[in-house]
Amino acid sequence: MVEAEPMETRLFIDGAFVEAATGATFESVDPASGETIARIAAADAEDVDRAVSAARRAFDNGPWRRTTAAERARVLRKLAGLLRENADALAALESRDAGKPFKETSFRDVPRAADNFEFFASAIEGRTSETFSARRPFLGRDREIQSLVQYEPVGVCALITPWNSPLMQASWKIAPALATGNTCVLKPSELTPLSTLKLAELCGAAGVPDGVVNVLPGLGAAAGAPLVAHPGVDAVAFTGSEPTGIAINVAAAATLKKVTLELGGKSANIVCADADIDDAVEGSVLAMFRHSGQVCLAGTRLFVADAIYDAFVERFPARVRALVVGDPQQLGSDLGPLISPQHRERVESFVAKGLAEGAEALLQGARPDDEALRRGNYLSPTIFAPRSDDATIVREEIFGPVLSILRFKSDAEVVARANATRFGLAAYVWTRDLSRALQLSNDLQAGMIWVNGYFLRDLRQPFGGIKHSGLGREGGRWSLDFFTQPKLVCIAR
Ligand code: NAD
Repeated sequence: MVEAEPMETRLFIDGAFVEAATGATFESVDPASGETIARIAAADAEDVDRAVSAARRAFDNGPWRRTTAAERARVLRKLAGLLRENADALAALESRDAGKPFKETSFRDVPRAADNFEFFASAIEGRTSETFSARRPFLGRDREIQSLVQYEPVGVCALITPWNSPLMQASWKIAPALATGNTCVLKPSELTPLSTLKLAELCGAAGVPDGVVNVLPGLGAAAGAPLVAHPGVDAVAFTGSEPTGIAINVAAAATLKKVTLELGGKSANIVCADADIDDAVEGSVLAMFRHSGQVCLAGTRLFVADAIYDAFVERFPARVRALVVGDPQQLGSDLGPLISPQHRERVESFVAKGLAEGAEALLQGARPDDEALRRGNYLSPTIFAPRSDDATIVREEIFGPVLSILRFKSDAEVVARANATRFGLAAYVWTRDLSRALQLSNDLQAGMIWVNGYFLRDLRQPFGGIKHSGLGREGGRWSLDFFTQPKLVCIAR
């Protein structure tokens, strides 16, 4: 059984929980109460070296990459089963560590993590080598040429995750990495390492061999940077912020590592005049305020057609005001705290900047007065009507409950404004007109577009962004491609 509140945690290297080489620790703090939940062993470069060496040995000499796809699939399904058996405890732990509402971690994050392991179990069973046959003259004779393209694992993979959906993010990377026969070193965010450490424990219980999965909690500079730079690492799969992604891409280039980057966003959410207004209001609340806006996909720029702007703005802020800000462990809470006091201050500084730049606050967020919430990093939602798209709050990723509502007159205008950002993760369109839906989807610059929906993605489909929102894609066959390399074997006779 997974414990809800581990007090001391260690690094997971070569199948065992071990102290950090320096003995250093850091604290994991409950963002809802400010209480220290756990003291976490903090990895540094020496631990990175130990973990990469273990992963290298397991890759080069161990059984994992040599097992059949069916055997790896069996282990992944067992792991999924263990996640489901421990679902309540894991969801509670995740909610406590990340401040994410329990109703999200229990109904979505943990089941989705288990789904990922099951999905990649089936995906790898279904992946086949390709064969080609041909005849051509060579060295004076007509030859029969049989060619084979086989998909081999990349090697040792560094998997680096952020704090907003730690277990789900870990499963997105670790499931395809393992399915394809790689070994890995996973560095979870220093703010939310607990569910990933539990995942490491469950990997062992599911039969993942020692050294195949290693988990190194630690700070970005002390553990993440040496992991990316390590010559023993073959590929880096990263999810996190734009500046860190750029730094990782630069560092990985020095040793020619394969890289995938899932970065930030400033996604446009476009409500056309012909939209179903009930769906658009509810969908836009979800697209923006889930997990208090601490979601890469958040539809933070809400463009509303001029013809329905007044009707929309009459309803939308009232609906947002009705969201319950409260203890994330309580099922009645819609919005939990922000991840840290520093992050709340950063978000508040954007609110102050919005006001200073002349945006009208249709709803102004604040720290709740409620005595029970005083010690947490709570902040209620803000809705701005900015003066122009040049406002800082319209341009920058805030990663908190701060939304800009912007009015538009024509489809051509909204496309130009929606695309006028360096990000390109997602976009949302609300319309009843299929032709318009297709035209806008063609014209919007984003990796993912949802029409009349929010994050309706099944696991076969790609996830990721363009421009400064990332490089490459995760999910489905795109993850299988990233974690493998095709080898051509060409036999002439
Ligand atoms: P972050 O970039 O600060 O940290 C992410 C991870 O990188 C952490 O584990 C951190 O310790 C590590 N790290 C930091 N510096 C590093 C370095 N120099 N080398 C290697 N690793 C380093 O991001 P965050 O604050 O944890 O997460 C929020 C960001 O993540 C937002 O920008 C959000 O949009 C983005 N995000 C993107 C997606 C996506 O799929 N596109 C999903 C979730 C979050």
